[in-house]
Amino acid sequence: MSRILLVYTGGTIGMIKNPETGALTAFNFDELLSNIPELRLLEHKISTVSFEEPVDSSDMDISDYIKLAELIEVHFEDYDGFVVLHGSDTMSYTASAISFMFENLKKPIIFTGSQLPIGDLRTDAKENLITSIQLAGLKERGKTVIREVGLYFEYKLYRANRTTKINAEHFEAFESSNFPPIAESGVNLKINHEKLIKPNLRKKMLVHKSLNDDIMVLKLFPGLSQQTLSYLFKMPHIKGVILETFGSGNAKTDDWFVSLLESLIERGVYIVNVTQCVGGAVHMGKYATSERLKRLGVISGGDMTTEAAVAKMMYLLDKNLGPKVFKTIFETSLRGEMN
Ligand code: ASP
Repeated sequence: MSRILLVYTGGTIGMIKNPETGALTAFNFDELLSNIPELRLLEHKISTVSFEEPVDSSDMDISDYIKLAELIEVHFEDYDGFVVLHGSDTMSYTASAISFMFENLKKPIIFTGSQLPIGDLRTDAKENLITSIQLAGLKERGKTVIREVGLYFEYKLYRANRTTKINAEHFEAFESSNFPPIAESGVNLKINHEKLIKPNLRKKMLVHKSLNDDIMVLKLFPGLSQQTLSYLFKMPHIKGVILETFGSGNAKTDDWFVSLLESLIERGVYIVNVTQCVGGAVHMGKYATSERLKRLGVISGGDMTTEAAVAKMMYLLDKNLGPKVFKTIFETSLRGEMN
């Protein structure tokens, strides 16, 4: 028997329809539990805690990430695993951030949610919640199996910082194109042991609660003009840019474009190159269209998702690293977020 803490942050899973407006709004967390009597059949001991004011995940920002990390940290020693109920819209961003905030994590933190509210007849919430609890409580020969931040949705447990929400309609709402699921739920729970993070159990866990959101995500598109870009790059507070490039990390070779990036780097702003493709990786230097970025000192995001790159940038910006060390660390896998 494991002790599991369910943390409700908000999202469809715990929402009801306002009968007058038809809009979905968060409801009392106690009602969530009374809607799932099946929870009492589980072998694990389940406790619950909720954000005082649950939020739609589109309203989340770094203050919510810190609040969530603190909630888990305060209860860390009392539980064997954690299940975070979260809106699916920005779940990959929050879960990626939490993966960086917990260094040397030795217990599971599983994020889940649903496309339909728990009270809906056709809801996907029950299976997602029940299997997430089972995965968070899973032990083999008395030892915790999952020791990382995961995201469970529609029969698959993914490494959280590898995921992206790809569908607003299907129950299968998430994808992890560059990394296989770490577990799958069928008749049995199949764990992909080989792919799990195996932390050094002697190292102390550290919780990093300082994040910096002076960043920007810029998706390139053919037709992005010099006027627009030079205006955007004038923002004085920006410290990091996640540049979503084409294919394997390619971008315009026009001199105005390159010199705008150059002036940003000279100002001490970090630029990370991630691909806007759903799968594959950035290989700067493979084409002439990425060679100039490489020479400028643009950081390679490798096969990282935009969500993971955003979280890593927020996490590393407040660490006071010199530019060379920053680049080296960004290009190194810290929590299994890149190959
Ligand atoms: N808008 C909701 C949210 O992300 C959608 C969901 O829960 O899936 O909070």
